[in-house]
Amino acid sequence: MQRLKRTAENNNMPSFQDAPTSSLMDQACAWRRDFHAHPELGYHEHRTSEQVARLLESFGLTVTRGVGGTGVVATLQRGTGPAIGLRADMDALPMQENSGLAHASTHDGCMHACGHDGHTTVLLATAQHLCEATDFTGTVHFIFQPAEETGAGARRMIEDGLFEQFPMQAVYGLHNWPGLRQGSLAVNPGAMMASQDTFNILIQGSGSHAAMPENGIDPIVVATQLVSALQTIVSRRISPLDAAVLSVTMIEAGTAYNVIPHTATIRGTVRCLSRDVRSRIQEMIATMVNTLPSAFGATGTVAFREGYPVTQNDPACAERVRDVAASILGAENVRWDTRASMASEDFAYMLQSCPGAYFWLGADGAEASRPLHHPAYDFNDALIPVGVRLFCGILKSYQAASVHQT
Ligand SMILES: [Zn+2]
Ligand SMILES: [Zn+2]
Repeated sequence: MQRLKRTAENNNMPSFQDAPTSSLMDQACAWRRDFHAHPELGYHEHRTSEQVARLLESFGLTVTRGVGGTGVVATLQRGTGPAIGLRADMDALPMQENSGLAHASTHDGCMHACGHDGHTTVLLATAQHLCEATDFTGTVHFIFQPAEETGAGARRMIEDGLFEQFPMQAVYGLHNWPGLRQGSLAVNPGAMMASQDTFNILIQGSGSHAAMPENGIDPIVVATQLVSALQTIVSRRISPLDAAVLSVTMIEAGTAYNVIPHTATIRGTVRCLSRDVRSRIQEMIATMVNTLPSAFGATGTVAFREGYPVTQNDPACAERVRDVAASILGAENVRWDTRASMASEDFAYMLQSCPGAYFWLGADGAEASRPLHHPAYDFNDALIPVGVRLFCGILKSYQAASVHQT
């Protein structure tokens, strides 16, 4: 925090390059704890989005409600300069909190275990900080999205015209990241998070008496062969330098000791870090399912459900985040070229539609943060001013560039 010094040339005029004031931070902590105490699941963020919209209006911003369900977009336009989007997610998880905190969830079976209460607060505080500054020029779209966890809220906002209604040159998002030290940031110029797809395979055999297998075609034997064969896709067909995971997580067949079942089902998930590997793995699964069972006299069919795509940073935007973070946090606190996570993130949809970057903010204070999705997880409030400084630094970098060009 020692690095968060005043930078205004004229100390009497609030600059968006200043560290946010302690009164704004106190207020922001109160918002964050209120959001934490009142978590809402994807597309049900009614209270949260209304609070967000009212606060944004109280800052003097133009606010559009109902973008992609419960999504909210607020716009700050001052003078000329590029339009930049900043995004936060608002949804909580369907799980019971056991933190014992004073601001613990008051909603049974629902909690902010991923820190989206904190992301929402960082963006709100950034909006207020910018509105109070006298030296900001340009356009910012503050994007508060619903349903990041599994509901593809980002995609729904895009389908609802996010980028047509609010044209922007680039879009940025962050996630708090346990395992990284507070005051540090990680980003890379490519994939930050994996794609996430699921598959359902149906093996059609022929049921018979278990004591007379010659009268049927056993789908369980075919299913076990197929599971083994599927494991060769990542281990034998994909380069060891391309990350991918194929996990079979469910096998279902049979109802009795003495019956060979008629069918078997296999379900699982695939995670990849590139679009090319993702489509090749889909093709290889389809080929195996369509051909291997026939060698046993059975047939197989597969249905894929495509989930979130790869969260793929635009290299220039990622470099911008790196450089801004180095100037604010110190180069020694920036992890460049960080390894991707095999988890997924629906900001990926925004990055498919608009250049931008997604980065992780270190969440470990004096004590290590609990992992994301832990029942006692609580967002580290010390990250709020860091997030505000970084978002403002990114905006400043565009302002500096546009002044340069004129
Ligand atoms: Zn999460
Ligand atoms: Zn999250």
